[in-house]
Amino acid sequence: MLDIKITRTTSPKEKPQDETKLGFGKKFTDHMFVMDYTEGEGWHDARIVPYAPFPLDPATVVFHYAQEIFEGMKAYRTADDTIQLFRPDCNAKRFQDSADRLCIPKIPEEDFVQAVEALVDVERDWVPHTDGASLYIRPFIFANDVGLGVHASKHYIFCIICAPSGAYYAEGINPVRIYVEDEYIRAAPGLTGFTKCGGNYAASIKAGELAEEQGYAQVLWLDGVEKKYVEEVGSMNIMFKIDGKVYTAATVGTVLPGVTRRSCIELLKDWGYDVIEGKLAIADIMQAAREGKLEEVFGTGTAAVVSPVKELVWKGEHAYIGDGKIGPVTQKLYDTMTGMQWGKIPDTKGWIVPVEKKY
Ligand SMILES: *Cc1c(COP(=O)(O)O)cnc(C)c1O
Repeated sequence: MLDIKITRTTSPKEKPQDETKLGFGKKFTDHMFVMDYTEGEGWHDARIVPYAPFPLDPATVVFHYAQEIFEGMKAYRTADDTIQLFRPDCNAKRFQDSADRLCIPKIPEEDFVQAVEALVDVERDWVPHTDGASLYIRPFIFANDVGLGVHASKHYIFCIICAPSGAYYAEGINPVRIYVEDEYIRAAPGLTGFTKCGGNYAASIKAGELAEEQGYAQVLWLDGVEKKYVEEVGSMNIMFKIDGKVYTAATVGTVLPGVTRRSCIELLKDWGYDVIEGKLAIADIMQAAREGKLEEVFGTGTAAVVSPVKELVWKGEHAYIGDGKIGPVTQKLYDTMTGMQWGKIPDTKGWIVPVEKKY
């Protein structure tokens, strides 16, 4: 159990009036959670303090060598004003796996969840009321040794900030066009693909920008060795329904183990679908499209829940999926996941964690 010291702001910000204009990750709440790590002492000084910048020396390790990890999760408001989280234990566990790969000292899972719950409790009035809107939660750790030597830092800061964010599908669910990236890669065996680290994102921006310039919403990443097998789309996992079965890349080091991904797999299996986690060649997907067997394609991630894909382009060949609208299985996943998250349908899976009023 962390002993969290709370200092409340004396100048609270005005809450957003129009929740339809929130966007994503642009406005932040009044407070943040902070905890320090010092070698020899461990994690210490857990506290919730007014949201404020960090004064950092220009030679701070994270600026130069990107020793940094993060998580992404949401708090949801139900009709009876319960504030709830979705599988926070999964984020806690993944944060540890990311920490281990980046040589960052781990946070015990129960401390991570406690810290998230405490901050969300303090900020509960900031959780939006509008349907589909939520409080986005961003936990992160960065190295803050000062110096340019390349080795694991001896000091870190663990921080959590919250951003009230608008509905991802404010204008309805519109399937997207995806560019299959055959030059740049996101991950390779032995690298950091399975972690949520800033470096992965820095390295992926270029491909995303080029795809966007050509009118595509995201890139679909192929494996980093042969550029043959599909892995992820943008910063989401991706699933393909071909001839009645659902295929997705296995999470074997190069693929981020998404909480949404594993939740969708569990639901699909409950509904009787065969879900195959393994290697899926882009050539076979294009062939399935030619044969009319590529039924549904969708990304999965906390932000969008599911993101249906209507078109793929690979080496100049276009594959069109279904009739260009969201498919029935994609829609059912979306309805079930969001139903549980916003408390509209019963949580039959034990995935929902209400945030109790303590502070
Ligand atoms: C966060 C993330 C995902 C999705 O994970 P969720 O836990 O479902 O939000 C997928 N791929 C990448 C690269 C990510 O960073």
